[in-house]
Amino acid sequence: MTAKGDPGEAGIPGETDAERKMRFLYALRSRGVTDGRVLTAMEKVDRGLFVRGHFADRAYEDMPLPIACGQTISQPSVVGLMTQALNVQPRDTVLEVGTGSGYQAAILSQLCRRVYTVDRHRRLVAEAQEIFRNLGLVNITAFSADGSFGLPDQAPFDRIIVTAAAEDPPGPLLAQLKVGGIMVLPVGQSDTVQSLIKVTRSDRGYEYEELRSVRFVPLVEGLSNE
Ligand code: SAH
Repeated sequence: MTAKGDPGEAGIPGETDAERKMRFLYALRSRGVTDGRVLTAMEKVDRGLFVRGHFADRAYEDMPLPIACGQTISQPSVVGLMTQALNVQPRDTVLEVGTGSGYQAAILSQLCRRVYTVDRHRRLVAEAQEIFRNLGLVNITAFSADGSFGLPDQAPFDRIIVTAAAEDPPGPLLAQLKVGGIMVLPVGQSDTVQSLIKVTRSDRGYEYEELRSVRFVPLVEGLSNE
């Protein structure tokens, strides 16, 4: 159980939009999201637009929620911590593998020059594209593809973020990361504890840093029929 007023608690009846936003940002800060640029981006992008139907009223809670195609929109604090670890710069080109709802891509779009995002579910890509269009986020390009191969035509990337768990970092993604680039991704077996890792590429090779334990849906091979 959580205490009343705890940021993890469900929506408080009668709360105004401003109060709800304050509580959302407070929860992020209390869970380690402290980078001002990331917090500003997360304040701007309304998570409620990316959660449909049944769970829409829980969009401002710090929890993962179901989206279409049996997938999930990640927990906001995890989105924040991953974005922070990625240390995105204004001129960067970023690849996201696992568009899902489009929420993470929308946040990245506030912080860099261009975002490419791919998902194996065509339906999720189409729904996310519609939201990007409505929000005027013209620097995001979304594709339906198996993201474990990256995007050879758009490579190399300054930053790569993977929001589904593979056993190991996919080789093509490592290859498509620029020297000086950073990749953040969960690795491990899908039904056990996974580790969020940060890979930094230098001219001497790749350095790996373990950030925390996480739980993501698995990275699955091939395009889906949906
Ligand atoms: N970043 C998303 C959450 C992603 S959930 C958000 O902000 O909402 C993980 C997503 O990874 C799912 O949508 C799933 O379809 C996708 N996925 C899994 N394996 C994939 C692969 N090989 N290539 C591309 N997308 C994949």
